[in-house]
Amino acid sequence: MTKISAPTTYQLFGDFLAINWDDGHESMLALKMLRQACPCAHCRGEPDLLGRIMMPAQRDEHTDASFQLRSMSPVGHYGIQFTWGDSHYTGIYTFEHLRRLCDCDSCRHEKESA
Ligand SMILES: [Zn+2]
Ligand SMILES: [Zn+2]
Repeated sequence: MTKISAPTTYQLFGDFLAINWDDGHESMLALKMLRQACPCAHCRGEPDLLGRIMMPAQRDEHTDASFQLRSMSPVGHYGIQFTWGDSHYTGIYTFEHLRRLCDCDSCRHEKESA
């Protein structure tokens, strides 16, 4: 298992969350994409025993407010909890999840070659 990177800093830049990782990597994550990747059970549906999601359970209509980040707070040493403009806050984004969402050239390349 590879070591999971942790953010050293993270900061809001308009519609993006900029994350600096402890391995020197930088990510710019679009808030819209972040919200759509919300890992909470409500947004994701419950995974089956193998961890597969059989049916995405995105039942809520997203509004503009859904993609505004109201606040973020660290969760232990493993993740960040976001509170969105529509008061949705149940998603805890682990560092691993956040890193996987990075869509920069080198991460994309890594995913393709994996
Ligand atoms: Zn959610
Ligand atoms: Zn990246």
